[in-house]
Amino acid sequence: MKHTQGSIEVICGSMFSGKTDELIRRLVRATIARQKVQVFKPAIDVRYAAEKVASHTGSTFDAIPVEKAAEIRSRLDADTTVVGIDEAQFFDPEVVAVAQELAARGVRVIIAGLDMDFRGEPFGSMPILMAEAEDVTKLHAICMTCGGNASRTQRLVNGKPARYDEPVVIVGASELYEARCRLHHEVPR
Ligand SMILES: [Zn+2]
Repeated sequence: MKHTQGSIEVICGSMFSGKTDELIRRLVRATIARQKVQVFKPAIDVRYAAEKVASHTGSTFDAIPVEKAAEIRSRLDADTTVVGIDEAQFFDPEVVAVAQELAARGVRVIIAGLDMDFRGEPFGSMPILMAEAEDVTKLHAICMTCGGNASRTQRLVNGKPARYDEPVVIVGASELYEARCRLHHEVPR
């Protein structure tokens, strides 16, 4: 059953805010309603299982890893009515055009991703997708320092807050991420 109107939904928030759980919840509901669902994720995210999206709490949903957003077009089945996109912040900018085209064709597009990077700055194409979306859900984690609502992802390198210009990959360093509120999010310059 095709939707009469396509749409874009964005689920965003910091790490540990339950974005993938919420994405999977919506996808399962669509599947129960006999919608044809396809899920895509960037091929770089091989955290838990290559052909699945997986939440920190252990729920999973089958997904197709793709190198580039444009591949979503070629891997899409003609009868698909719901498209999920996880870790959208890691996709190239083409993901915006792909989401717009799908929505224009009547597909319900559900996108999950980090709205901010570890510096607290807008991440990849997420701000554009949030502006384009009919519906935006911003989830929160719990601040590891004060227990309040956390909107940011704290990056720790060898136990200390990562500097603003810290390289993305540091060989031999122990890296950790925590959810933090605005007050306790630290990015030394
Ligand atoms: Zn806090």
